[in-house]
Amino acid sequence: MPTTNSQKVAVIGSGFGGLAAAIRLQAAGFQVEIFEMRDLPGGRAYVYKEKGFTFDAGPTVITAPECLEELFALKGKKMSDYVEMMPVSPFYRLFWDDGYVFDYSNDEKLLTDQIRQKSPEDLSGYRRFLAYSKEVFNEGYTKLAATPFLHLWSMVKVAPQLVRLGAHRSVYATVSKFIKDEHLRQAFSFHSLLVGGNPFKTSSIYTLIHFLERNWGVFFPRGGTGALVQALVRYFEEMGGKIHYQAEIDQILTSDGRVTGVRTKAGHTFDCDVVVSNGDVLHTYKDLLKDTSKARAREKSLENKSYSMSLFLIYFGTKKKYPNMAHHNVLFGPRYQGLLEDIFTNGVLPKDFSLYLHVPSLTDPSLAPEGHECFYVLSPVAHLGKLDVDWNDIGPKYAESIMNYMEEKYLPGLKENLVVQKIFTPFDFRDQLNAHLGSAFSLEPRLTQSAYFRLHNQDDDIKGLYFTGAGTHPGAGVPGVVNSAKATAGLVMKNHTLSEDRI
Ligand SMILES: Cc1cc2nc3c(=O)[nH]c(=O)nc-3n(C[C@H](O)[C@H](O)[C@H](O)COP(=O)(O)OP(=O)(O)OC[C@H]3O[C@@H](n4cnc5c(N)ncnc54)[C@H](O)[C@@H]3O)c2cc1C
Repeated sequence: MPTTNSQKVAVIGSGFGGLAAAIRLQAAGFQVEIFEMRDLPGGRAYVYKEKGFTFDAGPTVITAPECLEELFALKGKKMSDYVEMMPVSPFYRLFWDDGYVFDYSNDEKLLTDQIRQKSPEDLSGYRRFLAYSKEVFNEGYTKLAATPFLHLWSMVKVAPQLVRLGAHRSVYATVSKFIKDEHLRQAFSFHSLLVGGNPFKTSSIYTLIHFLERNWGVFFPRGGTGALVQALVRYFEEMGGKIHYQAEIDQILTSDGRVTGVRTKAGHTFDCDVVVSNGDVLHTYKDLLKDTSKARAREKSLENKSYSMSLFLIYFGTKKKYPNMAHHNVLFGPRYQGLLEDIFTNGVLPKDFSLYLHVPSLTDPSLAPEGHECFYVLSPVAHLGKLDVDWNDIGPKYAESIMNYMEEKYLPGLKENLVVQKIFTPFDFRDQLNAHLGSAFSLEPRLTQSAYFRLHNQDDDIKGLYFTGAGTHPGAGVPGVVNSAKATAGLVMKNHTLSEDRI
């Protein structure tokens, strides 16, 4: 039977999840318009440009490129027609406070030589860990990442696999079953932090990230992550999609239990049949669905959930090069579990740090002026519900202590070579991205907040309301939100594709 999708869709937000959903729906024939409150697309993948430096604000480790490639394939295109993805090696250089350094790489020999040298007895354990991670990947990613969990039954069906894989165990506990050396345990367990999860609390399902990276590699777009965002925007617009900037939505309009449109803060309305919110999930219910009793119930339940940590970031550029660093560096501090407890549970601002240091100009020198280096450093910190401090006041002091630490241990001469510096605090996550509690990754990735127990990709009561992005299934991270868009777009197509004889 011939079908048509000529219905209108409003997508709130242009993060990776919003863009991917918009692309899928526009490609399927819907008329899609994106409403983005900021002046540029990308959401957490915003870009700052200053004094010849290009700073990607957020995601920098781009893995699972096939989920992006799939978007371009919808219209017979290739991602390489729009953006060049460069492999990054090593994936990460890991530095510890005691001087130990480990190159976490996809080069099997380099990886296993380092494990053998550090802890010969852990080599066979590592191989078993890799096999386990592959199995979790096959069950958790390949089969389920883009499958919406709308009914409890869908969860019951996967329960046996979750039990078999020991999903109740934490990432760290699981890694520790295979690997004895503490440095290596940290090296193979920190990844859940990349999607907002404490390795000591998050389900072992997140060990799949290890296989995912080994399987597909780690990439960086030439021109930075912002170039990938621009590629998606260009492709969406070529298909006829529209994107409005500085167009903050302040209400989702509903009538008789279904959405009828959206209204911007400036007072413009857009009538539509479908709204896909890529904004923060609690913000959507609390601030955008003002007169809906069903939304109040959902708001309450979301308020009781646990949210991932926030981040403190410093974007900076130097007139000196630092070739001893890698593109992606993790600088482990003296404490691992204790520090994570301070961030996730105790809500204090510790004096020590574990940092992620991004040096993209090592892969793409065009991101900094000649002879200069472009960086960002990220420190996980408690979200605003746990740590009640005035970041406007302590932000600059906290930045100074991080810069001092890095100068002393890793980047000699840092401060005298500094050309530009800008900080981004939990307040900015809250104020510039509408992020509840300034959380950097939305709902914390715990088993009890995953799949069916996460916010569904489709509202259970309000017809025409959908979600894509970090707060919905499967969760945060670029592959996560791009897969959430696939799950969501599939639901929209199923529910809103009209057969022509019904028009
Ligand atoms: C510093 C940092 C580093 C990260 N590093 C990595 C990494 O290396 N690799 C990786 O895979 N992931 C990484 N992540 C996670 C990843 O970036 C995110 O999970 C993902 O990008 C979130 O995408 P999203 O689709 O949920 O939308 P978001 O990026 O959260 O975008 C939501 C958009 O909605 C807009 N919006 C909100 N409310 C409204 C409104 N009312 N009206 C209009 N617009 C609105 C916002 O302005 C924003 O543009 C990182 C995250 C951060 C913060």
